[in-house]
Amino acid sequence: MKLAAELVGKGATMLAEPCPKDGGIQVRYRGKVYCTIHDDLSSIATSVGVSYDTVVAQMREVLLARLNETITALGVEKDLDKQEGLVSLAAKYFELLEKLPEK
Ligand SMILES: [Zn+2]
Repeated sequence: MKLAAELVGKGATMLAEPCPKDGGIQVRYRGKVYCTIHDDLSSIATSVGVSYDTVVAQMREVLLARLNETITALGVEKDLDKQEGLVSLAAKYFELLEKLPEK
């Protein structure tokens, strides 16, 4: 019930008719109907709980790690064609990082 209330707080609506299988309360969320008894509401509540800030923080972390790897590889790469590829890759990572909002 706590999770159902949580989902309702996120915009889900409780349905008047009970689940045909077990009589549980049903909620509709983003066009899908979930039963509060037999459906795993916790995973739904978690999956919709991903926030913009979390994704941005994750992106920053991944991009910085990849940028670091690319620059390290560039430092030891002798082949000019491969250097060019690494430079353009690093530029893309850097550009994306610059586009991320400040904390
Ligand atoms: Zn059910």
